Amino acid sequence: MAENLNVLESTQYIIEQALTKLGYSSAMVDLLREPIRLLTVRIPVRMDDDSVKIFKGYRAQHNDAVGPTKGGVRFHPDVNEDEVKALSIWMSLKCGIVDLPYGGGKGGIICDPRQMSFRELERLSRGYVRAISQIVGPTKDIPAPDVMTNSQIMAWMMDEYSSIREFDAPGFITGKPIVLGGSHGRETATAKGVTIMIEQALKKRSIPLQDARVIIQGFGNAGSYLAKFMHEMGAKVVGISDVYAGLYNPDGLDIEYLLDRRDSFGTVTKLFTNTITNKELLEQECDILVPAAIENQITAENAHRIKAPIIVEAANGPTTLEATKILSDRGVLIVPDVLASAGGVVVSYFEWVQNNQGYYWTESEVHTRLQEMLEKAFENVYNVHMTRNVDMRLAAYMVGVRKMAEAARFRGWV
Ligand code: GLU
Repeated sequence: MAENLNVLESTQYIIEQALTKLGYSSAMVDLLREPIRLLTVRIPVRMDDDSVKIFKGYRAQHNDAVGPTKGGVRFHPDVNEDEVKALSIWMSLKCGIVDLPYGGGKGGIICDPRQMSFRELERLSRGYVRAISQIVGPTKDIPAPDVMTNSQIMAWMMDEYSSIREFDAPGFITGKPIVLGGSHGRETATAKGVTIMIEQALKKRSIPLQDARVIIQGFGNAGSYLAKFMHEMGAKVVGISDVYAGLYNPDGLDIEYLLDRRDSFGTVTKLFTNTITNKELLEQECDILVPAAIENQITAENAHRIKAPIIVEAANGPTTLEATKILSDRGVLIVPDVLASAGGVVVSYFEWVQNNQGYYWTESEVHTRLQEMLEKAFENVYNVHMTRNVDMRLAAYMVGVRKMAEAARFRGWV
């Protein structure tokens, strides 16, 4: 039977397992298996050739028992309703795992920013904010960057929201440029978080960082900064890829050259002829494999051929349920997405706190606090994994869902 690749159904399955293991009722499962709110919008955009194109977008709010919802906005041709819903649930779990005062949210627009001009992107970003403005805000739901969105897009969105609300609202969105109230360390936060996870995982497996060979799938915001940090810390980056192809060299790649030549969407392999496919890249020899691209990359079909003893998921949803089981049974240590990629939302939270207080922190303050929160989160998840004898993904879901379920219970919802 073909494997189920629906990310929402897989997430719902683990949510149910986690809540049942924690002793919650089926009503709680029913509440938390779907977002409480999903808005679908159609955004008319005047294109540069004067035609009008209508784009479809979404904003999902998973659960606001803990506090306002929080999560990025993705610009990608494959955005769809189930994916946005699953991504909003994952955001709730991330916020729960690192103990932020938020529930999860997520947005997306079906579009291909690689085919759009700067001004078309601006009009689309502003149109999206006008369309969702009723349900978002600094104390309601706080957007942020995600796949193929960046600080410029956050700046347009913040400006649009401020003009609708008629006050300057930097806390409406995070991931902004520093001059508009962005936080130091936000741009590199997801990658920094992943490096912290890699260090913790290597310690558990007694592998020194200096000896570690790393493969990173994806050379976007997370993947490219991660390659830089790993290289600077003395690990050997032996493989990377972009959406088109992969590069592998057991002696290590020239990371500085690759970083210098990548474009803003993370494309770099077009400069080479000796490439391999993204699929082949995942199966090469290494100590740490970091999927930092998109969903469903490691499946029941290729899990048996993965050689890495440690997988750290920088992307959301890169490993399917069946693949998780195959790999965990083989003793592979998986640091799941909802834990490994939480660095971004942690520094987004710092950015929102700084905006609310109007008082700004130094880069080293941001890093110290990030490190502390993520190390604690890793230990919490790892302890549940060991003491409850569950795989790391289920352990992360158990840690992530607990605060939300308790908040809903105290509010008298369930
Ligand atoms: N889009 C990022 C994520 O998936 C960051 C979300 C945020 O900063 O709110 O975690």
